[in-house]
Amino acid sequence: MRLSIEIDEESGFCYGVIRAVEKAEFRLKESAALYSLGSIVHNNSELDRLNKIGLEVIDIERMKQLSDTTVLIRAHGEPPQTYYIAKANNITLIDCTCPVVLKLQARIRETYAKHNGQIVIFGKIGHAEVNGLVGQVNGDAVVVDGFGSLEKIDFTKPIQIFSQTTKDPKEYEEICDAIRERIVAAGGSLENFTAHNSICRQVAQRHANLEAFAKRHSVIVFISGKESSNGKVLYDLCKSVNPRSYHIQTRSQIDPAWFNEEDSVGICGATSTPKWQLEGAAEYLKKM
Ligand code: SF4
Repeated sequence: MRLSIEIDEESGFCYGVIRAVEKAEFRLKESAALYSLGSIVHNNSELDRLNKIGLEVIDIERMKQLSDTTVLIRAHGEPPQTYYIAKANNITLIDCTCPVVLKLQARIRETYAKHNGQIVIFGKIGHAEVNGLVGQVNGDAVVVDGFGSLEKIDFTKPIQIFSQTTKDPKEYEEICDAIRERIVAAGGSLENFTAHNSICRQVAQRHANLEAFAKRHSVIVFISGKESSNGKVLYDLCKSVNPRSYHIQTRSQIDPAWFNEEDSVGICGATSTPKWQLEGAAEYLKKM
């Protein structure tokens, strides 16, 4: 089989994840162990690598039992309660909340303080970033994850909507359009609806690039962890423009039956997929 292989230059860790991983590695050079509140990145291969050098992933219940230690906050951010627990337990935080998420948290707090009505967040229910955003307004926000959950919104009241940073920009627009339609149907005024642009620019840019990349190749091998919501969104995008797109977690899942003689293969991944994993998959394909 003579495949031509290209790794998507734009794929790989985003700025926020690079920053968090670098801070963890820097700290682990000085000390043998470090706790991370939640997975620093939704990618098991990268987590295994970091675990081998001393990073231990804990949940909030475990953190409550710890004291006089150091805990890393990942790029997704945390609700204020986490900071209160750290203070009460004398825990030093290495706060790796992405600056983009920090700004979004602040915007939500300010909007909540200034406006009456509902804060609506379009995002994955239970996702760490979304929990952190909801925590900025003491839980007084409605989280919608698609058209099926729109009924949670009161369309007669003013609405301020924000998106989780890694959502699909097109899907966000569609959700906003559906809300506008329902406001009108409920006899409300569109003046009471504000859609904030809160999708991360790096993510939005990747959507446009990845669509072109997926169209350019006969087969797409997309690598990301199962837990990565950005991975799911980006893979769905590839699949929508290239039906021969395959989602894998590790290169050993690559199936030779996917390829024909002289196919061009594009290898890409999510904001949580390390470059070394994309390169490893390319090597694997070359040897096949
Ligand atoms: S996707 Fe954007 S907002 Fe989220 S961690 Fe990465 S750089 Fe930050």
